[in-house]
Amino acid sequence: MPVPLLDLNRQNNALHAGLTAAFERVLRSGHFILGGEVDAFEKEAAAFLGAKHAIAVSSGTDAILVSLMALGIGPGDEVICPAFTFFATAGGIARVGATPVFAEVRADTFNLDPEDVARRITPRTKAIMPVHLFGQSAEMEPLAALAKAHGLALIEDTAQALGAKHRGRACGTFGEFGTYSFFPSKNLGGFGDGGLVVTSRDDLAEKVRLLRTHGAKPKYYHQRIGGNFRLDALQCALLRVKLPHLPAYSAARQRHAAHYGTELAAIAGLVLPCAAAHNDHIWNQYTLRVPGPGRRDALRAHLAKHGIGHEIYYPLSLHQQACFAHLPRVSLPVAESLAQEVLSIPIFPELTADEHSSVVDTIAQWSAAANPERA
Ligand SMILES: *Cc1c(COP(=O)(O)O)cnc(C)c1O
Repeated sequence: MPVPLLDLNRQNNALHAGLTAAFERVLRSGHFILGGEVDAFEKEAAAFLGAKHAIAVSSGTDAILVSLMALGIGPGDEVICPAFTFFATAGGIARVGATPVFAEVRADTFNLDPEDVARRITPRTKAIMPVHLFGQSAEMEPLAALAKAHGLALIEDTAQALGAKHRGRACGTFGEFGTYSFFPSKNLGGFGDGGLVVTSRDDLAEKVRLLRTHGAKPKYYHQRIGGNFRLDALQCALLRVKLPHLPAYSAARQRHAAHYGTELAAIAGLVLPCAAAHNDHIWNQYTLRVPGPGRRDALRAHLAKHGIGHEIYYPLSLHQQACFAHLPRVSLPVAESLAQEVLSIPIFPELTADEHSSVVDTIAQWSAAANPERA
């Protein structure tokens, strides 16, 4: 039985009446930029996260960019981020003219290795940007301690972890900024691009709001050079319909992860992802490691042949990207080997029991053929 990696329609069809009503409300209002829907969504998102300020922005990428701009990070500054993450984390750093400094990640959680971060701090370092990759929190205590000891800002790229917690506290609320994405494949998937910036500091919230509309205050009097980083009223109205369902979506993902954890454990040749006991992991992705030369690609081909959705997040670490070839060469063996070994399989909330079995059986079939001595 073929299984998609993600099926947005199942989730959205179930909310059809509410989404249509929200659309009609905005349509009839004739008000499409900022205003009541945006304010209401920001309040609801802030309450959900336990954050003081939430500011809706145009994308997760722009959330990172505007956070760096608000902190005044620019040319000559360095920002430490993981080498194994989506490109936007480092892209934002480079776009403000600062230098991304790539740090090693941990093989067990895929997240930033605080000990390696400590080694990469220099007098030019201005910020650390952990990523809560695949829906699990990075190790926030050591990272916050490093930031504090060296006077650095902490920007949490929480694009994949809206609703995840670390020791009971929402990811994205530890540092100066938490940045989120509503790209359709994220846990709170929107209807196009969208993002959110969260902060507990009044001064930084005000700066982000200013930068979101070209640094203008009042209108047409520009205090700073910002951008158009607004999120549409329509997008906010639709996201308001979905936000209350996010805990149920995350709980469903957790159930799927628990099932995979028991059913895939018996299969030879795989390393399963783990959730640290102090983390509330929300499984934006369920990412296997398939060690051994060519073995990940062999499993990938087997899944493709049987119509099982899968993706490689990510096939090349950031320190190895062509656009960063001008930066000093670094060797980051864990990040490099993860890029060779990872394979993400379907874990969207609406996955059925039959589909789940189909994924497990197809992987088991490959393993039995690939590891006959252990079958
Ligand atoms: C998705 C993502 C982003 C960017 O979000 P967009 O809304 O697509 O711009 C940034 N960082 C990480 C880790 C992501 O997964």
